[in-house]
Amino acid sequence: MNPPARPIYLDHHATTPVDARVLEKMLPYFREQFGNAASINHVYGWRAAEAVDVARGQVAALLHVDPSAIIFTSGATEANNLALKGTLRSAPAGSHVVATDVEHKSVLDPLKRMKRQGFGITLVPVDSLGCVDPEQIARAIRPETVLVSVMWANNEVGTIQPIAEISDICRARRVLLHTDAAQAVGKIPVDLSLTNVDLLSLSGHKIYAPQGIGVLVVRPGEPRIRLEPLFDGGGHEGRLRSGTLPVPLIVGLGAACEIAVHEMSAESVRIKILAQHLADGLRQRLGGLTFNGPPIDRNSLQCNRLAGNVHVSFAGVDGVALLSSLKDVAVSSGSACTSADPEPSHVLRAMGLSEALSLSSLRFGLGRETTAEEIDFTVKSVAEVVTKLRQA
Ligand code: PMP
Repeated sequence: MNPPARPIYLDHHATTPVDARVLEKMLPYFREQFGNAASINHVYGWRAAEAVDVARGQVAALLHVDPSAIIFTSGATEANNLALKGTLRSAPAGSHVVATDVEHKSVLDPLKRMKRQGFGITLVPVDSLGCVDPEQIARAIRPETVLVSVMWANNEVGTIQPIAEISDICRARRVLLHTDAAQAVGKIPVDLSLTNVDLLSLSGHKIYAPQGIGVLVVRPGEPRIRLEPLFDGGGHEGRLRSGTLPVPLIVGLGAACEIAVHEMSAESVRIKILAQHLADGLRQRLGGLTFNGPPIDRNSLQCNRLAGNVHVSFAGVDGVALLSSLKDVAVSSGSACTSADPEPSHVLRAMGLSEALSLSSLRFGLGRETTAEEIDFTVKSVAEVVTKLRQA
């Protein structure tokens, strides 16, 4: 097996390449159809507005919501901030939020800020697989609770949370439910007609659309969700997100969602088989492995983990040394950063993994273009590097 011309990309949780079909749909909107979707006086604006309408419909179709629910943002970070700060700023002083220990920083950090401003925050723990127990969410809800925020799928270990059950609890208790679905949308069925989710964040660049575009879904209908916008301006997106709409990016997101509607289920089966192949290959060649998150099970397509995620700790190996030796494979460390002094990840800590194991783990993220040959090469490279580092 020859080394690849460029590193094999196994970091699809971080970002995905833009699908060639998506790029093709976007290109006319940079030059020929460059209008501002808010320009109502001429054909340039009308064409741009039509393209945004089509894309809004495509995103809504993937999620089974009314197109009026789609608020375009710059990504999931902004959508998460809008959901959390927007809800709390229009809620009474002293209001309370429930979230989990394993949320993304773009949920945890806004919550920390809101806590400094006097809001109550409860973070619910997870079990050793990274799963949250809906009962614990129910127990954390208080009379002052206005919002629960639980991510649909975890970006580190791939755990899929029981969002439907949590959404029923929240609806029964008359508390809003927000879910950060950045890693779930386009990978697993996210059907909002089957759940009581009120607010949902997604990110374009996790689903083969470009970076810099995302969505906050705001459930329409009664009781109306009250959100304060993060910034004021032209009143775009129902006054919730002022700012000129980035039409090419929105067109790309719509196209990516349409592809997901048609291809997601077959793609996840293919990726799951490759992930199983990666896990089996590593197990055959190496001892001292801990696979983190829910078990990788070839026979169960309903199991509660993302198909493309393999998160593994290599006992006795320094993660930073491992990453720097793995020249031909682009993966992510299991720790929060790859600096000289890495912090153990808050997710792995919440799952009870030791600091030593957290610092010796890698996250593999398989995607649309991952091939069986790439997985074979990765198994061989990782096994060689780990063996060498263990002997050193
Ligand atoms: N939430 C999760 C779960 C994520 O994985 C990410 C991306 N790392 C984000 C939010 C932030 O998304 P964006 O890059 O679109 O701001």
